[in-house]
Amino acid sequence: MENIGHLINGELREDNAGTQPVYNPATGEAIRELMLAPDALVNEAVDVANAAFQAWRDQPAIKRARIMFKYKQLLEENKDEICRLIGEEHGKIAHDAAGELQRGIENVEYACAAAELLKGEYSKNVGPSIDSWSEHQPLGVVAGITPFNFPAMVPLWMFPMALVCGNCFILKPSEKDPSTSLFIAKLLKEAGLPDGVMQVLQGGKSVVDGLLTHKGIEAVSFVGSTPIAKYIYEQATQNGKRCQALGGAKNHAIVMPDCDLENAANQLVGAAYGSSGERCMALSVAVVVGQETADNLAAMLKPKLDELRVGAFYDNDNDFGPVISREHKEKVNGYISSAESDGATLVVDGRNPAVEGYESGYFVGPTLIDNVMPNMTSYQEEIFGPVMQIVRVDSMQEAMTLIDNHEYGNGTCIFTRDGEAARYFSDNIKVGMVGINVPLPVPVAYHSFGGWKQSLFGDLHAYGPDSVKFYTRRKTITQRWPSANVREGAVFSMPTL
Ligand code: NAD
Repeated sequence: MENIGHLINGELREDNAGTQPVYNPATGEAIRELMLAPDALVNEAVDVANAAFQAWRDQPAIKRARIMFKYKQLLEENKDEICRLIGEEHGKIAHDAAGELQRGIENVEYACAAAELLKGEYSKNVGPSIDSWSEHQPLGVVAGITPFNFPAMVPLWMFPMALVCGNCFILKPSEKDPSTSLFIAKLLKEAGLPDGVMQVLQGGKSVVDGLLTHKGIEAVSFVGSTPIAKYIYEQATQNGKRCQALGGAKNHAIVMPDCDLENAANQLVGAAYGSSGERCMALSVAVVVGQETADNLAAMLKPKLDELRVGAFYDNDNDFGPVISREHKEKVNGYISSAESDGATLVVDGRNPAVEGYESGYFVGPTLIDNVMPNMTSYQEEIFGPVMQIVRVDSMQEAMTLIDNHEYGNGTCIFTRDGEAARYFSDNIKVGMVGINVPLPVPVAYHSFGGWKQSLFGDLHAYGPDSVKFYTRRKTITQRWPSANVREGAVFSMPTL
């Protein structure tokens, strides 16, 4: 079986303090063995990065950006291999993996503008013969800790911008599907990145803790579940590091009686079941205004779900694949059972679907649950599976109050033809990313991504303009070049003009 190791100072290493299997979730078979980094390797990686930092930060930004131009090309040339790795370890169907990669590449394209993004601000004559400017200086060595559900895109949210800002980066990918992240990191060397500037450490909690407490790490970007995001944010900041920690979600779509219901139903199906619902922006709750609209929507959704194809990644006719692990499959099934025993109506039951040839895979079929109440566990917690729940309400205001009261605030959407209602919704809803007839309002790479409430800990969102702020620190310089025959005495009052 192939071993998956670390990328340290440009070399692949297999140092380990133990190993663990990586599974193909469509077959349930262990396909690779992951090396878990020992503490000594964590320390070595941080030392290597700090040694590489000065030369890298002194490179002109345009030279750092040129590496990203080449890197974009390499990612595109290696698209099939990257999608295969995503499919094998995550289970995502090839067409969906290609979409994930493309959204990641768009962050590389944004990073190509480094020279423009890092220009800073300049003011001439702030005083007699005095000029002042503010510049963005890199932080040093920064770390990224990423989840299983986007093994290419989420690392690409982080390291292209961190690198072009002049930092060295250490990535700790998910231990569930580590090969994609390692593969895309290795391509950076081919693109011309100096050794040690980008490194990958494999492992779990002990590697993360090693990074969080290491004095040689300046900042931590995290994406994953809320309990871990909270832990990372607390540990990182207590250890004096800058931190952005993006957490879990429960994304609601309001379905208004005036909307184009057929269109809303199609959009909901894609956004709820795509990638088996394992997206932090998956629309998992339809909040339907009015009983008649809810009856019509449920009736419309059922035949659409019956037609969905669930299966292995390489068959591009499949709509979605398995969930990530056996434990996660049991957890998702458990939420479906709990909704049923709490009195909700199981319209389509996806527990244990028959997937021919993949009997040991971790499949959950599309599931639709109606008459869900806000006090049910299946409503309150993130399920992260192919499960859509319908909550019936009487008014848009009731729908908005429901969303505002939920602990998560990542994404939301409204389906309506009423511009005034949509504008009121987007202006007032307590959620970080809002769609108006757009089911997955994932911001493009030149905006930034982040939720509110328990979906994000920290002040700055991921990628886009916020990433320049996150991965640099501001320095403001004030300079005077007086003419040779001007000499001033000491001034004891606060300098003013
Ligand atoms: P996870 O929190 O289990 O793991 C994320 C990372 O944290 C992994 O690298 C893992 O190794 C590490 N980790 C896990 N337990 C740890 C611990 N006790 N101490 C230190 N590190 C630990 O998340 P996951 O299951 O890989 O990903 C799914 C979750 O990520 C979902 O909740 C989803 O909503 C969320 N997510 C959020 C966003 C967002 O942008 N807000 C994007 C993608 C995924």
